[in-house]
Amino acid sequence: MKRILWFRRDLRVEDNPLLSLGGEVLPVFIFDTQILNALPVDDRRVSFIFDRVLKLKKSLQTKGLDLKIYWGDPLDIFNSLEAEGFDEVAASGDYDTYAKERDIKVSHILHFRYLNDTYIFKPEEVLKDDGTPYLVFTPFYNKAKAYLSKEHMHEYVYVKQRLYETSYEGITKIDVDSEETLPLNIDSLEFKNNLLKIDDVEMKLEQFRKNLSGYAKERDYLNKDATSHLSIDLRFGTLSIRSLLRFLLAQKKEGVDTEPFFRQLIFRDFYAYLLFHFPDLATHNHKYRFNGIEDKSKYAAFCEARTGVPVVDAGVRELLQTGDMHNRVRMICASFFTKDLLLPWQWGEAFFAKYLLDYDAASNILSWQWSAGTGIDPQPYFRIFNPYLQSKKFDKEAEYIKKWVPELREVEVKRLHNEAFLLKNKIENYPKPMVVHKDARDEALDYFRSYQ
Ligand code: FAD
Repeated sequence: MKRILWFRRDLRVEDNPLLSLGGEVLPVFIFDTQILNALPVDDRRVSFIFDRVLKLKKSLQTKGLDLKIYWGDPLDIFNSLEAEGFDEVAASGDYDTYAKERDIKVSHILHFRYLNDTYIFKPEEVLKDDGTPYLVFTPFYNKAKAYLSKEHMHEYVYVKQRLYETSYEGITKIDVDSEETLPLNIDSLEFKNNLLKIDDVEMKLEQFRKNLSGYAKERDYLNKDATSHLSIDLRFGTLSIRSLLRFLLAQKKEGVDTEPFFRQLIFRDFYAYLLFHFPDLATHNHKYRFNGIEDKSKYAAFCEARTGVPVVDAGVRELLQTGDMHNRVRMICASFFTKDLLLPWQWGEAFFAKYLLDYDAASNILSWQWSAGTGIDPQPYFRIFNPYLQSKKFDKEAEYIKKWVPELREVEVKRLHNEAFLLKNKIENYPKPMVVHKDARDEALDYFRSYQ
């Protein structure tokens, strides 16, 4: 069997089903110009992926293999490879709308062998008794838990393969006439620092092992580094989801309560499952016709971190500088964006998509729909976060706020959680809050009620 191994969301050698097949192989990674052409030239995620792809190439070389890095339209690439006599292309499932359509087109060129790697369950594995997909998380979670077996934690063993002979040098450009260059930017200092922090998966797991027992209690607190920081590894497959499950099982055997963390992993699966079964969710509300009010100046204030609401601006600064944002702050920001500013959730989703290094279409879209109150099984529309109460509770000493918004470092902590103070007093170099939370909340409720 002569096979192309298409690495996508599985940029690792360990526990990778792609590498357990045997035969003659051409391992490839494709910088897909259908995606790249829409990105700015300094896109950080592309730089990050490039870094990981080079690491993958090195790891494959230690196994006597290599990685051919392409740059072009996957359809053109597979058309040219088909002529070289390959039997099939093997890849793990990628379930966002563009990926699904692209893979179907590729399957018309070469036999496509799907492997399940990115998520715990295949999209059709956890269904209701009547064979339809779940629409509510808790029953999905219960069924998933009951269904979970050793097979979902299987470790794929590397099988010796023969490397297809071709040039593995540099980046192979399929459209040689194209003037465009890869949008790479590895020079931003903050970004580099962030990369270093998140470089080693083993170290992250070791660090998180110490935090796991306190995860449920501490994960929401912004000054506590209590979460795993594994979303990016799960996104690009530098960590196998099955090895994470094995890690959790080992911890459970030691008596650690792993359930709260496991629940989050099932959330990740649930969101991918929903987007797979209901692709319209990528752009359309599931519930309520109200879809926000398009206001470019409010949008600009949010994206430039000048809303005057400290925790929101701190979150956006963190995102812009590092490509990351604490989960609790993502929730606060998305609620503020869709309810206090009444902006369309799709705009917020696109803003996060542009900057998040761990950007995952399913998690991002469904989380935005959850916050907006418009998705499948969302936060009820009338539950609107008060950003000041949120920061008072989860960033009591305003450490997070002061870290990301230096203009506020000299302000007394309790004032940063006090809307009335911020509305009344001018702080040097920092704007007053652009909305009054209670008024904005009432307006949002009116809209939702009238568009039921
Ligand atoms: P941990 O708390 O350690 O969680 C462990 C893992 O569980 C995460 O790595 C992640 O894979 C998964 N997970 C945790 N919380 C969620 C959740 N609410 N939904 C789905 N999966 C979850 N996560 C992404 O991976 N990509 C995104 O693009 C993304 N966009 C988001 C947008 C909004 C508006 C919100 C509210 C949440 C979003 N999340 C997204 C979920 C969550 O914020 C991140 O997964 C989490 O902050 C990553 O940090 P961690 O790895 O330390 O998480």
